[in-house]
Amino acid sequence: MKKNFYMIIMLLLFIGCSSTREKIYEIDDKKYIAKGKNERIQFIIIHYTAGANEVSVKELMSERASSHYLILSGEDEKIYNLVPDNERAWHAGISSFRGRSNLNDTSIGIEIVNEGIPPKYRDYPTYNLYDHYIEYEKMQIEKVGQLVRNLSVKYKIPARNILAHSDIAPSRKKDPGAKFPWKLLHDKYGVGAWYDEEDKELYMNYEEYSKRTIIEIKKELKDYGYEINETNEWDKASKDVIYAFQLHFNPKNSSGEMDLETYAILKALNKKYLHKK
Ligand SMILES: [Zn+2]
Repeated sequence: MKKNFYMIIMLLLFIGCSSTREKIYEIDDKKYIAKGKNERIQFIIIHYTAGANEVSVKELMSERASSHYLILSGEDEKIYNLVPDNERAWHAGISSFRGRSNLNDTSIGIEIVNEGIPPKYRDYPTYNLYDHYIEYEKMQIEKVGQLVRNLSVKYKIPARNILAHSDIAPSRKKDPGAKFPWKLLHDKYGVGAWYDEEDKELYMNYEEYSKRTIIEIKKELKDYGYEINETNEWDKASKDVIYAFQLHFNPKNSSGEMDLETYAILKALNKKYLHKK
């Protein structure tokens, strides 16, 4: 009798257990494929580390900052991948471009070991000149060219979204600086944006330029993607944007002042990439 009692208890426990066992539902990822989606990765941001190999590695391995890729200086022939592409790295900080902010969320960061500006020019009173920046090494640029080309094909990144840290944070950052060869990368590797010379010539018209108000020129910068205020003056924050634009597209004339040539390049870019007149 007692034995039967235990058997019934065991049977009840068994039934109880099996009835709470979780049913596993299958996930079908083939039947309904949505169109409303995009890649996490929409931008590529280029940096210099402002330090030598050893300090750069140490900084990028710390918990303060990181980047997806690291390009060392010297003989080392590797490109280092520190953070998987599908994860966020901490390289951009407070940033915006083309109406998006916090670009860590949507970008891949590439750090290049380059000292940036030698100490004697670091406290230069106005914007640093082209000659103040340190040259990149030939192999570094070859690595960047290959890497950015491969990434931009893989993630379908538009030319206009391949940017300098200074483009997305003009009042805080100058990297990768005036010596970073954007034109060469465009011409040789087909990466990033560059204007057509004939379009620039078209807009090298002082009479037309002199009629443009500050607000109109700021609108052109904003249309291209730069975050800029809408006041009718070239205040410090707005000049920082001009300087960032010049570091990228007119580095030998990076003064922080708007001028005819800078304006003509901006108009040429908007004609080419935004199909604006
Ligand atoms: Zn940077």
